[in-house]
Amino acid sequence: MIKKEFKAESKRLLEMMINSIYTQKEIFLRELISNASDAIDKIYYKALTDEQLVFNKDDYYIRITADKENRTLTIADTGIGMTQEDLENNLGIIAKSGSLAFKNENEAKDGHNIIGQFGVGFYSAFMVADQVTVISKALGSDQAYRWESEGTDGYTIEPCEKDAVGTEITLKIKENTEDDRYDEYLEEYRLRSIIKKYSDFIRYPIKMEVTGHRPKEGEDGEFEEYKEEQTVNSMVPIWRKNKSELTQEDYENFYAEKRYGFDKPLTYVHVKADGAVVYNAILFIPENTPFDYYTKEYEKGLELYSNGVLIMDKCGDLLPDYFSFVKGMVDSEDLSLNISREMLQHDRQLTLIAKNIKSKIKSQLQSLLKDDREKYETFFKAFGRQLKFGVYNDYGANKDVLSDLLLFTSSKEKKLVTLDEYVSRMPEDQKYIYYASGTSVERIEKLPQTELVADKGFEILYLTDDIDEFAIKMLMNYKEKEFKSVSSSDLGIEADADEAASEEEKAENKELFEAMSSLLSGKVKSVKASKRLKSHPVCLTAEGDLSIEMEKVLKSMPS
Ligand code: ADP
Ligand code: MG
Repeated sequence: MIKKEFKAESKRLLEMMINSIYTQKEIFLRELISNASDAIDKIYYKALTDEQLVFNKDDYYIRITADKENRTLTIADTGIGMTQEDLENNLGIIAKSGSLAFKNENEAKDGHNIIGQFGVGFYSAFMVADQVTVISKALGSDQAYRWESEGTDGYTIEPCEKDAVGTEITLKIKENTEDDRYDEYLEEYRLRSIIKKYSDFIRYPIKMEVTGHRPKEGEDGEFEEYKEEQTVNSMVPIWRKNKSELTQEDYENFYAEKRYGFDKPLTYVHVKADGAVVYNAILFIPENTPFDYYTKEYEKGLELYSNGVLIMDKCGDLLPDYFSFVKGMVDSEDLSLNISREMLQHDRQLTLIAKNIKSKIKSQLQSLLKDDREKYETFFKAFGRQLKFGVYNDYGANKDVLSDLLLFTSSKEKKLVTLDEYVSRMPEDQKYIYYASGTSVERIEKLPQTELVADKGFEILYLTDDIDEFAIKMLMNYKEKEFKSVSSSDLGIEADADEAASEEEKAENKELFEAMSSLLSGKVKSVKASKRLKSHPVCLTAEGDLSIEMEKVLKSMPS
């Protein structure tokens, strides 16, 4: 028997994979199960067009068998099987698609990205096994073949015996090392939980022998162990079910089961899109801010399924940063059609889905704002800051998406208001949307600068969050009304007194102002008489773009 070398690329990927410190070794099972499921799909589609082939649902399944004594784990399927050529072409060369991953050497360096983003499939078996044996019999063939490999040094193929059509992949599980435990891949509970986690929604049964306990006959209170083959996966994903069949509790359970968060979701939306892109999605808005939300450690993203198979835990490309708090999943068949999973980030379908999801989230938030103000304010307290960052980032590119979702505390009843509410009740003679910044509502109210505007009966937005004013500056205007700081030197409010009087005042106080200017030199630009004060003797105003509050924020930021 001749040993064949892997093609150079495959060899490198294999090496990388085997030596990879990739923590999620468990995904090998997902990959092998998904291949098994693909293989059954192929028979299924064949049966649709070939009258001689009947697809009897009960005949198609995937079976997982762990043998602790021999340290083997077997994944068997009744799918389409592989001929000798297939084994050669499919397992001797890394999935053709995968080769694209090598375009970028840097990216390929540690294997993390490759496994995480592309899913290299079959080869991931070598992360946990030091020998892999594939026995396969193809549909329509009389001869079965055995493919075997111990890793990078190559593989062998030889004829063998196998009765039924299908494939049986046996992994010789590695011995534990100091750093890594492999025993767990032979444990029933562990295997079940990996299957539950990644492959619950595979549409063919994944069978496994499980241990149960039952009362022992004749002996009270005694239990005995028994073994029984069970289907481990539920097969029907919640997102494929009809919305009318599902209750709020179903969604909340799903949220908990998936560990999207430990809170209850504030609201959710179940999307069944079948327009330009076909996908199902369940999106959740959490109630609480995750503890690491406003840190670098927080990672945004949605789970991405391709036709029921989880291919990515956190697909960040599906969410804009300003909606990074959204949790949930997306399942699309369109993604599996261009099956390879390579270059997902540049996938046109994915871009379309992301765009679609963005608008779904926006409208979900808008209806929450409209229908349940209290809940919306809860949401805004948890994540409003992120929306304001969203306005500020990217030079305001997203302000159209976000401006309707913002809330600010207003001088009117000190309640949170939307910009729309503010603008819609502006009196005719009010030109601007006024705002004042400060560390708290109480402090802002004491600002002398607010006096003139408040006196006119105009509403003022109280900006108490350090990002507020930066966001406002980026917005520039809302519904054609410009924002104006109450500290700006031109408030757009007509002063009643005539100019002459002010000239007189100026002359009168010339010496005083000069003295003050020299005392405060370097601290203020000029000292002037003002018409905007009523009960306060003095106030500071800003002439440039930066308000005093913004300057404070900028100064406090680490440079
Ligand atoms: P991908 O699934 O992305 O094509 P894999 O590395 O997972 O890449 O698998 C490579 C190929 O090997 C598959 O495309 C398929 O043709 C073949 N293959 C793998 N496992 C099986 C199986 N259980 N039954 C039939 N063919 C299989
Ligand atoms: Mg695969």
